[in-house]
Amino acid sequence: MSTIGSSLEQEVVAKVPKGLFVDGAWRDASGGATLAVEDPSTGEALCEVADATPQDAMAALDAACAAQAEWAATAPRERGEILRRAYEAVVGRADELALLMTLEMGKPVAESRAEVLYAADFLRWFSEEAVRIEGRWATAPNGGMRMLTMRQPVGPCLLITPWNFPLAMGARKIGPAVAAGCTMVVKPAKQTPLSMLALAQILDDCGLPDGVLNVFTASSASATTGPLIDDPRLRKLSFTGSTEVGRQLMGQASRHVLRVSMELGGNAPFVVFEDADLDAAVDGAMVAKMRNIGEACTAANRFHVHASVADAFTEKLAARMDALKVGRGVEDGVQVGPLIDDDQRGKVRELVEDALERGAQAVVGGRELDGRGHFYAPTVLANVPGEARLLREEIFGPVAPIATFEREDEAIAAANKTEYGLVAYVFTRDLDRALRVIERLETGMVGLNQGLVSNAAAPFGGVKQSGFGREGGAEGIDEYLSVKYAAIRAG
Ligand code: NAP
Repeated sequence: MSTIGSSLEQEVVAKVPKGLFVDGAWRDASGGATLAVEDPSTGEALCEVADATPQDAMAALDAACAAQAEWAATAPRERGEILRRAYEAVVGRADELALLMTLEMGKPVAESRAEVLYAADFLRWFSEEAVRIEGRWATAPNGGMRMLTMRQPVGPCLLITPWNFPLAMGARKIGPAVAAGCTMVVKPAKQTPLSMLALAQILDDCGLPDGVLNVFTASSASATTGPLIDDPRLRKLSFTGSTEVGRQLMGQASRHVLRVSMELGGNAPFVVFEDADLDAAVDGAMVAKMRNIGEACTAANRFHVHASVADAFTEKLAARMDALKVGRGVEDGVQVGPLIDDDQRGKVRELVEDALERGAQAVVGGRELDGRGHFYAPTVLANVPGEARLLREEIFGPVAPIATFEREDEAIAAANKTEYGLVAYVFTRDLDRALRVIERLETGMVGLNQGLVSNAAAPFGGVKQSGFGREGGAEGIDEYLSVKYAAIRAG
């Protein structure tokens, strides 16, 4: 997309419904409260959206519960075709949705467009999976009975999503829930609700029956979702967000032994062996580190580079990082947008200062950028000592800390030295080593010689404190299905 004028920006924001989407209708919050959505590149308010009360949230759950039985009985093909139409509609409106996303979240428009297409892909993938929900028929080993298994929708779901991927994190929950025959209440992050509101309207336009999808926006996540999690009619909670909040929600969910899926934080190691193609490693590093301004759960959080190639890798990476154009994501050629807010920028600043105080060197960047918006300079830190906080904590910003290793075992131990286990990146040209290392990494996903793992057809998810459950792939729909088994007396 070329230069975007402010009238176009206003137009795409104006087009989005700002209310609560409950039982197929848009309504204001009871009491009429609203909350502001801000453009992180300017700090200015874009618009106001409804600020739901706990009663509004409960009305959304009521609608989901009322629609559940009929929706579960809807033909799988019909469910799939709604998703397929939504896929076409999202792709058809990709430019407009990308601009909207950039305005509320900050990432460059080209990256927003990539997210819109990635989100659409979940709708297409699960439109295809809706008709493949199968069971089994078997004879018991002793021949004494027949065993029938079937997979049925779990029931009404609560889906809570973060601000960093405002459309994709929702689409990869809504897609399988719709395909499986579940109804749902979605609560997007308060900082980036517009993409989700736009998607709700698209799904409505594409024929999703009233009550199947309900969306509310709220200034208080805990006050609005708490009563829903406590309600025994809710059967499933799927959460994407921080490990800290995930832990709290798991505690709440234990009361009614709710099914839960948790897509939580990450601390991805990016390991470069001495035999790696260094140019490919730097290309991969730019994607793994800088996609989404570093605000991704899959972001390479720390680089472990073999000592013999560390200087060359650092030099090449620093040159690429230094050349990046930082600015408002809607402007032509911008490759790095602002961080989501000043708290996030403050956290990045603190982690970088800690590393520098402990002896790391800033090869490029290492500072905030002046002016409006929450900008931080793309940064490469060399010789980062093992005790630096940013090797342990999720940075969520454009900062690449580089540490070195000498032996393969040492690299694997360093990579696994974290309570997180979402993804790891490995660069080597030695196939035996690659397989050995992949097997020993304690993560749910590995990128081998590439810096991007996300794909609607692949099972995305973590181990350890990065959570459990998988989104996408053949596995993704299982999160929304329960297995029922019937023991049948053989005649
Ligand atoms: P967050 O603070 O945990 O918030 C995520 C969502 O949970 C938001 O909708 C938030 O609402 C809501 N929330 C916050 N506190 C809550 C509570 N007490 N009860 C119920 N809901 C609550 O995370 P974030 O800062 O938005 O997102 C960044 C985190 O998400 C990072 O740690 C990142 O690694 C992780 N993430 C993981 C994946 C994955 O697939 N593993 C993908 C993307 C992001 P409000 O907006 O109102 O605060």
